[in-house]
Amino acid sequence: MITLNKIQQILDDTRRESIEEMAREAARITRQQFGRAIGLYTPLYLSNYCSSHCTYCGFHSHNKIERIKLAPEQYRMEMGHIQAQGIRNILMLTGESYKHTPLSYLKEAAHIAGEYFQGIALEVHPMQTDEYKELFAAGVDGIAVYQETYDRKRYAQAHLSGYKKDYDFRRDTPQRAAAAGMRQISMGILLGLSEHVAEDLLALYNHVREMEQSHPGVEYALSFPRLRTVKSQEFARCDIDDAAFTKILALTRVLFPRVGINLSTREDPRLRDHLLEIAITRMSAGSNTAVGGYTLLKEENQDPQFDIKDDRSVAQIAALLREKNFDPVFTDWRRIENSL
Ligand code: SF4
Repeated sequence: MITLNKIQQILDDTRRESIEEMAREAARITRQQFGRAIGLYTPLYLSNYCSSHCTYCGFHSHNKIERIKLAPEQYRMEMGHIQAQGIRNILMLTGESYKHTPLSYLKEAAHIAGEYFQGIALEVHPMQTDEYKELFAAGVDGIAVYQETYDRKRYAQAHLSGYKKDYDFRRDTPQRAAAAGMRQISMGILLGLSEHVAEDLLALYNHVREMEQSHPGVEYALSFPRLRTVKSQEFARCDIDDAAFTKILALTRVLFPRVGINLSTREDPRLRDHLLEIAITRMSAGSNTAVGGYTLLKEENQDPQFDIKDDRSVAQIAALLREKNFDPVFTDWRRIENSL
């Protein structure tokens, strides 16, 4: 396994030729393992109620924003809109509020999402194994849960109150989700939240290795969102520029040939198009990060969780992929009726 010193050395080496060499190796591995297939998904924000106070997020409990939770007839409209764009994999998100978006609410949303989509993932508050089992039975097959940073001191500074303050409960979430039978688990760190980037990467890599050993049948994916939104910029401890970001994704691919790497619309189109060639296996498309943002509300009336930099539609992203000789993949998995 890679050492902390080696990661630091790689991050410190800013020579163009070393970045290009690692990118070439990552690209070779990505093509060998994943061909030219790129999975597409779209996020759907169900609610922005949150009882946690994370300093870097616009949804935090102390922020005086209009709180919205979609009712079934409202998220049906959103789902219908997303489905009409051709999307078959949905990532449903909420703020972390057990009170406003309890298990029963999420189960109902999952049941209804099953009418529109093949793959249903959740990025919501961490739960217990039995609760994940219920979600799985309701149709959820993937869980996204990011530790944000593995640096305990920085974690405590950035997560001031609420459930997310509990570092260990969050860190153990992938274990509980896997034990419940989830098929796909996304993990990651919020780059820039801690200045100890090499330590964070090593801790994430070790966490993924631990998961691969304890639950080898799960499909793992990694995400590396960058803390760059205007309102939370002051909370970033270091700037991860595009070259460093590229290197981190390339290094991850070299170390984890079979792990999926996601890229969200936080990144600008030029960089997203470039990273497709190197390490990415899944990307979001046609995203809106406002609750009800697709069909119900004007986004400018709301504080979205983060700013989107790539606002291309699903059709535009799919066309671009085909132009670059990639296959946009809308359905890569389907649950059969008696598999519950
Ligand atoms: S990051 Fe998640 S838990 Fe933290 S304030 Fe935002 S929505 Fe709430």
